[in-house]
Amino acid sequence: MAGITLDDVTKRFGEGGDAVTAVDDVSLDIQDGEFVVFVGPSGSGKSTLMRIVAGLETQSEGDVYIGDALVNQLGPRARDIAMVFQNYALYPNMTVEENMSFGLKMSTDLSKSEINEQVTEAAEMMGIGNLLDNTPGELSGGQQQRVALGRAIVRDPNVFLMDEPLSNLDAKLRTTMRTEINRLQNDLGVTTLYVTHDQTEAMTMGDRLVVLNYGELQQVGTPLECFYRPSNRFVAGFIGSPSMNFFEGQLEAGTLVCDGFDYELSERMRSNVGDRTEVTLGARPEDIALEDDPVDTNGFEVKVDVVEPMGSISYVYIEPVDQSHDRTYVVEVDGQRPITEGERLYAQFPPEDVHLFDTG
Ligand code: ADP
Repeated sequence: MAGITLDDVTKRFGEGGDAVTAVDDVSLDIQDGEFVVFVGPSGSGKSTLMRIVAGLETQSEGDVYIGDALVNQLGPRARDIAMVFQNYALYPNMTVEENMSFGLKMSTDLSKSEINEQVTEAAEMMGIGNLLDNTPGELSGGQQQRVALGRAIVRDPNVFLMDEPLSNLDAKLRTTMRTEINRLQNDLGVTTLYVTHDQTEAMTMGDRLVVLNYGELQQVGTPLECFYRPSNRFVAGFIGSPSMNFFEGQLEAGTLVCDGFDYELSERMRSNVGDRTEVTLGARPEDIALEDDPVDTNGFEVKVDVVEPMGSISYVYIEPVDQSHDRTYVVEVDGQRPITEGERLYAQFPPEDVHLFDTG
């Protein structure tokens, strides 16, 4: 097993004015046995970064280490990794058993019975021991993905690379497989890189998230760190669903003057802002309260635009009454609470649980 180190890795596609920088000067240390999730919107460079680690793409600049070995010049086969893709990439004419044993037959001197034993063990681990004689066409999407995972396990690699492996499964199966991959990674302790654009996968899988946007690292941290202490507005908006609400304002003598309301910063928050003047206030839907009457100056009158009942909670979309444009914001309330569209209420920020970011 091995950790992974990326040193100032950049990848450009194309030349000159048409060049796209898919990965922009990324440095990262992944520990041996760690489960790291690359997350970001489509086109943010997640797959390219993973493919660079796999040796399927060559970086334009920078170095990649697997363990202590500099692997820049090594092809995918020499890197001792196993990849699992969204489309499973199984051989359609081979049985499950043949699909799972193929890599071992090609790359090791193991005897037939040793290979059989390892395939059976991996198949049992993935709950597909009874499917070894079937071909992929006879299996459901979920079963095929188990075969793809089983095939990766059998190879006993230094590193697992998984590129959106659950995207083609239905929602219920995705939940089951998320749990299974977590368990598997925990049991096997193999260093794992996992690419997803899915919020829930990012929050529930992995020891650390690597948040990317336009090829640049935005934040590296545990899911909870990224959620509670986002390092910038992009991470704050991307992690968490529905997204954090943002209000741009001008800081004047400790008060943030926003469109339609003012927010008075606490002493502690003032000391954190330094000498910035263009500041964006961020508040998650669950951190804003909706009151019948104003509580203090950090509240403002709103009109209820839409109520979206979700069961135990509802999302209420609100419009500040005094704002100059018609932007709406979202607040989470108890699902039992009767709120009607068009109703006037007061949105109340908590004294401390708001985030402040540089605007722009
Ligand atoms: P993600 O996995 O986050 O969706 P990708 O790594 O696939 O992002 O892509 C990052 C950027 O690099 C995108 O702008 C994409 O269009 C570009 N890109 C990826 N692969 C190629 C390629 N083979 N040729 C040209 N551009 C590419």
